[in-house]
Amino acid sequence: MNSDPLAATPEVPAELNAFLDQKRPSRGVFTTYGNEYAIELVADREADSLVGWCHFDGVVASDVDEVRAPCRVRLGSPSELHPEQLEWLARHKSGPLDSFWIIEDRAGGLRFCVGRAIRFTTQPWIDLGDTRRIEQANPCQRRASPNAVASHFADSDAGLIGREVGCWQCLRTYRVERVYASCPWCKNSASATSVERLLAGGFHSNATLLARSGCGPLHHRAPDEEVYRLVVYSRWLNHRIVEVSSRQGCPRLVAQRWHSRTETWGDRIDRDLTREEWHRLGWLLDAAPFWHLPPHGGHHGFDGAYFTVEGLREGVYHFVERWGPDPECDEENFAHVCGFLLEMAAAADGK
Ligand SMILES: [Zn+2]
Repeated sequence: MNSDPLAATPEVPAELNAFLDQKRPSRGVFTTYGNEYAIELVADREADSLVGWCHFDGVVASDVDEVRAPCRVRLGSPSELHPEQLEWLARHKSGPLDSFWIIEDRAGGLRFCVGRAIRFTTQPWIDLGDTRRIEQANPCQRRASPNAVASHFADSDAGLIGREVGCWQCLRTYRVERVYASCPWCKNSASATSVERLLAGGFHSNATLLARSGCGPLHHRAPDEEVYRLVVYSRWLNHRIVEVSSRQGCPRLVAQRWHSRTETWGDRIDRDLTREEWHRLGWLLDAAPFWHLPPHGGHHGFDGAYFTVEGLREGVYHFVERWGPDPECDEENFAHVCGFLLEMAAAADGK
């Protein structure tokens, strides 16, 4: 038996099936890198959850995209497959060194993967090392958070002259000496803002999207309300809004989806949140760590979508905008906040 889960062999690592037994992941999501495939095994996620990765190397054929409730991976044979699967398999050439693995789900379904080697790894769901590093860096480097946003409130850029502002990209504090000033450390420009500009920012100043959304500035909310609003501004017009707010211990979720054909927001969801959902959101905001992140940052790419989360807590406002947030590229856990907000909205509308 293979005792090293990291070694790539045709044998199914015992640790993989132990993980499936103990963690009972709700789904396995397939990703591909050339002819290397991996299934991310997504278990119910608590603070200390591990994510399992089942890697297949040298894959020549596979019919896995997403598996509901995967429960076992084993060596098998094509004789176990349905005719349609056999047809699929026949279209791909497999050599004598290839192994044939079966992925079983708890409903009795079988998927297959043919390739050279299999290995299993785990990683923490959330890397709290990133959280601690960001939290500790801010006070050490005299970074302003979350006052960085409020420090830019002025009627015009000239109104910032003579003021100390917090940079929206590196959070360092500096004094504005002239119009069109920029941060001496990262060169991010210092522009005046207002509650209306902040609201429009998430919609990338698309006046139609904003006007039809019914969204108003978070600053106008009741002083005892805690609110988080995600706006996904998508190059492919898959815009989304998910807002979670709590007042007097009653958290609610409101979500909308943009219909590009009719140019209207629809599929509106308005429901109570459970205590667990609200608690988990709070934990993810802390892990991001939302209130310590600079408003601008992360990596950039083509197309995709911008994710902006605004927050208002005890009268303090903050926002974080990222293009296609990704924990590994950005070395921060903001993506998990966005993912969970969208997940809560999806759980309600079944999409
Ligand atoms: Zn800066």
